[in-house]
Formats: sequence, C-alpha cells, structure tokens
Amino acid sequence: MTEEKKKGILTVVSGFSGAGKGTLMKALLADYDYDLSVSATTRAPRAREVDGREYFFLTRDAFESMINNGEFIEWAEFVGNYYGTPRAYVEEKLAAGRDVLLEIEVQGAMNIKKQFPDALLVFVTPPSAEELKRRLVNRGTETEEVIAKRLSRACEEAAWIEQYDILLVNDDLEECVRTLDTIIHDAIAGIPYEVSENQAMIAEIRSQLEKYRLGGNEL
Ligand code: 5GP
Repeated sequence: MTEEKKKGILTVVSGFSGAGKGTLMKALLADYDYDLSVSATTRAPRAREVDGREYFFLTRDAFESMINNGEFIEWAEFVGNYYGTPRAYVEEKLAAGRDVLLEIEVQGAMNIKKQFPDALLVFVTPPSAEELKRRLVNRGTETEEVIAKRLSRACEEAAWIEQYDILLVNDDLEECVRTLDTIIHDAIAGIPYEVSENQAMIAEIRSQLEKYRLGGNEL
C-alpha cells in the first residue's frame, strides 16, 4: 500500500498594524518548526530591517513586473504600498510537507482563502484600541500621518474578523506564541476550534476603533 505524502498546512496570520504580528512570528519561529514566507514590498525598509529577511524590498517597477509574470500567490496595496507573497516558496514548501506561515493583511488573506480553502486563518489583535495606538506610537517607525492612516485602516480591517477561523488576543507574548502553536497543531489534527467568547470582543474592538476612522480609505 502506498501512503500518500503529507502536504503541509498553510496558516495565514493577519492583524492590525501594530498588533505585534512581526514579534509574534519571530518568537513562534524561534520556538517551533515552521517556515515563514518572506513577502515582497515597495515600502522603505525600517531601521534594522534587512532585505531578504523581513521583506524583499522592491521598486514599484520591479513589483509590477512580478505581478505581470504571475510570481505572486496574492498581492495587495496597503496604505500606499504594494505587498505580495512570492508563489514559488510557498508552493515548494507545502509540497515538501512543511507547515508554512503567511503574515499578511486582510485582502491577501481573503485571496488565499479562495485559493487554499483548507488554510487556517488567524486574526491577531491587541487587547484594546488604545493599546494598539500606544504600540504604533512607541514603535517610533512611522510618522503621525501614517499612524493615523494605519489606525483608520485597522477600523476597516475589523469588519473582516468573522472571516477568520480564530481571533487571537496578543496580550502576553509567550502565551500568545504557545496558543498559536497549539491552534495550528489542532488544525493539523482536525480538532475544531473554540470560538465562544469572540463576538463580544470583536464588537468591543470595533466600537473602540471607530474613533480613528478617516474618510476615503476604504479597502
Ligand atoms: P508593515 O508595513 O507594517 O510591515 O506591513 C503592513 C501590512 O502589510 C501588515 O498588515 C502586513 O501583515 C501586510 N503584509 C505583509 N506582507 C504582505 C503580503 O505579502 N501580502 C499582503 N496582502 N499583505 C502583506
């Protein structure tokens, strides 16, 4: 009897800008055995970001030619820049049975959900909108104008949370890392997720984020 080779699981992690996804991903990779896809982007590198590690930093022309050549599984514009997931890495890793993580925004996540119906979609949020703002400001990497746009975008992204399988509150980093690893392993084992308390939390975050909404920034 031939045993079918295991294909890896694809996990999409989204969340408001400033929710701590980057830190969460780094900590998860340090402790557990996953492959994180490195995206391409046209935004400028932040201090300490390294080309090929956090992102492949591209010009708009280079990015657009990759779009035209079908080299992205998905891509989207986010607050004035392109972001995209290179196709080859994800397809090769999944075929080799590896569990792959994508850290992408909601339009990209919805696109992945269509192409990979078995993908696990996780939405990460800080415990409150105030905390989100505090983290964005303390990060010190964006101007006030960009922070305002990112908070407004967060308000729009909140409308998509129900499309995700799991809402993960990033309060304590270590606990969040352990929970995320458990969620992924449960999904691999076919164990259903507990979503009971999410509705109240989603409603609360949505109403808190409303005050940051700017006009004309629809998804
Ligand atoms: P940042 O500029 O803060 O690194 O990322 C901005 C947003 O773009 C974040 O929500 C991040 O998850 C998202 N992002 C990063 N890479 C990709 C990608 O390849 N595709 C999509 N659709 N979004 C991405």
